[in-house]
Amino acid sequence: MSVNLYHSQRVRGFQQQSVKYSGRTMIIVLKRTKFNCPWCGSLDVTPKAVSDRKIHAEPMGFCRKVILKLTTHRLYCHACHVRVMEHIHFLLHPKSRLTRSLERTILELRQHMSIQAVANFFHLRWHTVKELEKRALKRKYSRIQTSHIKAIGIDEIHVSQRQDEGKYLTIVRDLNSGAVIHVGNGKGTEAIHGALRKLRKAKLRVVAMDMANAYYNWFAKYFPKVSGHAYCSVASFASI
Ligand SMILES: [Zn+2]
Repeated sequence: MSVNLYHSQRVRGFQQQSVKYSGRTMIIVLKRTKFNCPWCGSLDVTPKAVSDRKIHAEPMGFCRKVILKLTTHRLYCHACHVRVMEHIHFLLHPKSRLTRSLERTILELRQHMSIQAVANFFHLRWHTVKELEKRALKRKYSRIQTSHIKAIGIDEIHVSQRQDEGKYLTIVRDLNSGAVIHVGNGKGTEAIHGALRKLRKAKLRVVAMDMANAYYNWFAKYFPKVSGHAYCSVASFASI
């Protein structure tokens, strides 16, 4: 028996070697039909088997648990002379244990169901669903549009009494929308240095901050246009 892998799982470029059932679990053994170099696209490559993988896929019919078994390969490309792992298009990153399609379904369902309910439905561990969601949030918020930002505020907040923990966090926000752009450990210029890359395209004109002197030189160095405009020192402009 064979199943249509493209329509059910968004898997293409693989052959089904076998389909087995064990209760409500379906195990599909896959084999690649052809290899090509992920760098230059050449088909002139020599594959070498690296490891056997089991990937959770979308439920099919009465089978709530569908496992794709496949062998991953390292490729040597004779055209560009590189050794590189093959690209598996239905995985979001090379070490994923779930198909891209299943990850998307889980994220959709999480808007309506608890982590535990989603985990039970797909026969996954709570931790697996939680980690998947954390990675998705990181992807979504790791790149922030800052090109429109003209005014930011910097706030130092006291978060812990303990000596062994960082006592302060420094929050950098867009003053118009209130969106957090950067959170740095500690305070002072070291804590806001991580914001530099994120603010590279910003058209900063105004910086509102407490303890203005601690940051003045830093801003004068990296955002000289700001220094010609108003630095306003405010006691506190926001709370989180
Ligand atoms: Zn190549």
